[in-house]
Amino acid sequence: MHEVGIMQSVLDLAEREARAAGSAGIREIRLRVGRLTGVVPESLEFAFSILREGTLAEGGRLIVDYLPGAFWCSRCEAEFETEGFGCGCPGCGEFSLDMRRGMEMELVSLEVL
Ligand SMILES: [Zn+2]
Repeated sequence: MHEVGIMQSVLDLAEREARAAGSAGIREIRLRVGRLTGVVPESLEFAFSILREGTLAEGGRLIVDYLPGAFWCSRCEAEFETEGFGCGCPGCGEFSLDMRRGMEMELVSLEVL
């Protein structure tokens, strides 16, 4: 389950940032995750609920903004959004591998106590 590894990295980073800021706790962690990363929202929430115990984020919450994936269609000369790989352009049906968005995985903000 790669969500556990992702969440562990996020928590490590968040704790490091919070400590550097002299904080005693994390109130909120906000992430931005692209749909094409394959991350399952429920698994990410679950990983957070388990891994936060004993960390500065123990009483904190996780907020995740999921972004749709986007590919470029060279025939239509336009971008189209998709929730997964292997979807053709809705305009012409052309299959595209020219990914423009969807692999994001970033810590957007951190609210500390
Ligand atoms: Zn097209």
